[in-house]
Amino acid sequence: MLIPCLACESRFGPDEYFSACSDYNRGLDLVSWTCPRCGNRDDLRVLPGELGFGYPHAGRFDALLRVPGLRRHRGDLRLDISLDRACWQVMTRLRQPA
Ligand SMILES: [Zn+2]
Repeated sequence: MLIPCLACESRFGPDEYFSACSDYNRGLDLVSWTCPRCGNRDDLRVLPGELGFGYPHAGRFDALLRVPGLRRHRGDLRLDISLDRACWQVMTRLRQPA
């Protein structure tokens, strides 16, 4: 299973792809993803069996990508993503109050 960058269409194995996730936003339930090839930044939501891209409008995403076997577990300050037997953790970047 290779997962494409929606900007440059480079394709990544799950390890390279999910290692490029950062900054889990629990409120919006989104993680930031930075393409290792082109540097494009996307916000995505990890869903069971798929990834949702862009900010959801009325429950719909700009794009959905099927990733069979994808699972997630939401923690307070981190998101655990698992696929097959591999697991990645995306930490929440703590924001200073303005
Ligand atoms: Zn890219």
